[in-house]
Amino acid sequence: MLYKEPAPIKDRENPFESMMSRFNIAAEVLGLDEETYNVLKSPTRQVIVNIPVTMDDGKVRVFEGYRVIHSTILGPSKGGIRYAPDVFLDEVKALAAWMTWKCAVVDIPYGGAKGGIICDPFTMSAGEIERLTRAYTSALADTFGPDQDIPAPDMGTGPREMAWLMDEYSKTKGSTVHAVVTGKPLVLGGSLGRVEATGRGVMVSAMAAMDKLGMDPSKSTAAIQGFGNVGAWAAKLMAERGVKILGISDVSGAYWNDNGIDIEDAIEYKNAHNGRLEGYKGAELMDPDELLTSKVDVIIPAAVEDVITIKNVDKIQARLIVEGANGPTSYKADNIINEKGIMVVPDILANSGGVTVSYFEWVQNRMGFKWTLDRVNERAERIMNESFERVYAASQKYNVPMRIAAYIVAIDKVAMTYKYRGGF
Ligand code: GLU
Repeated sequence: MLYKEPAPIKDRENPFESMMSRFNIAAEVLGLDEETYNVLKSPTRQVIVNIPVTMDDGKVRVFEGYRVIHSTILGPSKGGIRYAPDVFLDEVKALAAWMTWKCAVVDIPYGGAKGGIICDPFTMSAGEIERLTRAYTSALADTFGPDQDIPAPDMGTGPREMAWLMDEYSKTKGSTVHAVVTGKPLVLGGSLGRVEATGRGVMVSAMAAMDKLGMDPSKSTAAIQGFGNVGAWAAKLMAERGVKILGISDVSGAYWNDNGIDIEDAIEYKNAHNGRLEGYKGAELMDPDELLTSKVDVIIPAAVEDVITIKNVDKIQARLIVEGANGPTSYKADNIINEKGIMVVPDILANSGGVTVSYFEWVQNRMGFKWTLDRVNERAERIMNESFERVYAASQKYNVPMRIAAYIVAIDKVAMTYKYRGGF
């Protein structure tokens, strides 16, 4: 029996064990052989670095950083870097594995990786973050590489950090290497459409799911948790397709409007107020704990892990959950979601638009040629729709929920590739 009860970490589930429990179910359905199972169950490589950084007060602070390479079977490993005070190794391991499955689901030639640094970027100056980013890059200069391991933004990082990373890496190599990182600023080899790519993919997969469920977007309502890059873009693009967004939230609180929130207005407000919705007057304040259980047709968790758990899953009223975040649903909530007949577009499918356009950025860097926004969007949309259909077909074929179907599609692809390549 492959299945093992995940071990709890404090009061939350261990994300790596949570990922493994889904992986185990899919592996059993697929009848995955033991050799391949053993190859895929643990990360290929885990690097922990100590990073001394001179802070603005002249004192040196030592930060702990990670880079976990889960798999390189499909190609160079790919995945973002997270800056957060509570990031921990098992979380980075889970996020790295999710990158492997995500790249396989959308059929792009990458393995999976993820990085993290324990730090609080909101309390650090730009100079401190720059020195930290450069020191992390130089510590991992042998790990990163356009044909080895290609980082990207994740929570707490963005184009600015990717620019420093690209520059520092290029210095260690003695030449400009654009393709070592994606999510760069446009002037530095970034791709048109990359910033909005994850939110756009969330919208595309939400539309595909609504179509399967016979839901009319213009008669549907949604609540979106997280108003960062993913949540805000998903909200804007869903609203453009007629979905009424009744609730949104960020770290400052949750906001509700029975008539639908004017998303353009909320984004403008956020941009003018340090990236936060605090004090937003276009909606009423509501209890953030009630956002995901509110009376809407679609919920989109687009912030952090473990927000749909056994504590609130019973109260969910939506028919459709589209996971913009990585790992927002704890594995223990899965059964109840399935019993309630709620469709989930799982993270490794729903938020894969980001890495898909990262792939386009890397391709453009290697060609030395820029694509138009239309080309980026049209190709990303096609990949998202095709991937959705592949996962939907697997869910019908194996009679499993969409989440397990996505793992099945991913594991099958990686396992088949492994068979051709072989081990030692
Ligand atoms: N951090 C994003 C994710 O979780 C993007 C990764 C990438 O573009 O490589 O999918």
